[in-house]
Amino acid sequence: MKLFEMKHIKKSFDGLEVLKDISLDVEEGEVLSIIGPSGSGKSTILRCATGLETPDSGEIIKTGEVGLVFQQFNLFPHFSVMKNIVDAPLKVQKRKKDEVYVQARSLLKKMGLADKEKAYPFQLSGGQQQRVSIARALCMNPKILFFDEPTSALDPELTGEILKVIKDLAQEHITMVIVTHEMNFARDISDRIIFMDKGVIAVEGTPEEVFSSDNGRMKEFLGKFH
Ligand code: ADP
Ligand code: MG
Repeated sequence: MKLFEMKHIKKSFDGLEVLKDISLDVEEGEVLSIIGPSGSGKSTILRCATGLETPDSGEIIKTGEVGLVFQQFNLFPHFSVMKNIVDAPLKVQKRKKDEVYVQARSLLKKMGLADKEKAYPFQLSGGQQQRVSIARALCMNPKILFFDEPTSALDPELTGEILKVIKDLAQEHITMVIVTHEMNFARDISDRIIFMDKGVIAVEGTPEEVFSSDNGRMKEFLGKFH
């Protein structure tokens, strides 16, 4: 079943077309990774998908709530860990307090942060902050979770713990769209990969297909990781 669809999305900023007729869909339970050079439009796809940007034209079809995990965590600095997680479920989704707190505690436990609910973001490592932001996104019960370079702001030794969390979510068949520069991770975790180049989907397929593609820009891009 399709959970999400983008049809012929175009988006320009100041006369520069950064998304040129993008169409993609996401199946329930699927892990889709989006790779490509800086400036190719990856974040703009996620921002359009999650409603942070409005496309100039085209259509977006969603079946439910979508969540977004940012590169820079984007936690509220003046809220405790718990308040960061429960705020939107209580205020935006208007759910019952008891139920939301039970879910939030269970998510914190799953993220290995059971003892951090009263802590503030500045008291946590980058990896811990990113795990809080994943718990926050999950507490909205999204149909799809979008990640925008979730490890790019982390020190290399903290990257692994976040990739492990995302891999665990994939094993639970959480539907995810992941923008990442971690090529081995993308190859390992994805059902499908999209390579973006200058606002278009230049290559799309299984990890095997994409990583063995003859596309010149794709080869050049992969060459930068060797
Ligand atoms: P990526 O995530 O692949 O690095 P982005 O989607 O962030 O690429 O950006 C694609 C292009 O759109 C870049 O040239 C970027 O400078 C431009 N861009 C993105 N957001 C804005 C914005 N809000 N205003 C102006 N230009 C933007
Ligand atoms: Mg980006």
